[in-house]
Amino acid sequence: MQNIDPHVHSLHNSHGQADPNKIIEAALANGLDGIVIVEHNSYDASARWEQYKNSDLLIMRGVEYTSDLGHILIYGIESDKYIPRPNLPFAEIGALAERLNWAIVAAHPFTRPGVYARNSEKRIPSIHALEVNLKASAINNLDTVTLATKQGIKLIAGSDARDERTVGGYSTGFFNRVSNVQELAQEIRNRDFTMIVTPDAKTKLMIDRTSEQPSYQ
Ligand SMILES: [Zn+2]
Ligand SMILES: [Zn+2]
Repeated sequence: MQNIDPHVHSLHNSHGQADPNKIIEAALANGLDGIVIVEHNSYDASARWEQYKNSDLLIMRGVEYTSDLGHILIYGIESDKYIPRPNLPFAEIGALAERLNWAIVAAHPFTRPGVYARNSEKRIPSIHALEVNLKASAINNLDTVTLATKQGIKLIAGSDARDERTVGGYSTGFFNRVSNVQELAQEIRNRDFTMIVTPDAKTKLMIDRTSEQPSYQ
């Protein structure tokens, strides 16, 4: 089984860019075989990752796109031409996904701005999986699991890491070997994967957050 974290960011509005070498090092240390870099609303924004593709880690690129319904992860997209701006109707992206063999995952569906945080819980065609997200609350992740069970839709797990600290905290195991993001998209569409969710990751995240709090002075 190939252990892949499908939801990793490396660009930040507030503190610039995370160091790709540190992310790769942490990913390998955490037992990952691959990561997918998904910057917000742009495929081109992760172009700098192309130069790291020779590392021991399988590095793929996708997009976390802000549709009119909320955040979705798109795998298999290869340029920004279909997503010239955020907030395009989900139906439009869904139609493109069918035509171009993208896979679409509802990111943190119950945590704003996830697609089920405000909208009804009716099944959205062209969503291939719902995401259990390391940064989402336990309650929101439980809502995701419940809805996935109700709808018969698969669960994928990702860290939503912003840097090396949480990469691989949650990840997804793929049964068939993938060597690029198109193959990954195909496996997601084929429902051939399973979540890898370690309780330790959530505890570690809470400790990290506690240590980030400012001291009272
Ligand atoms: Zn998001
Ligand atoms: Zn994200």
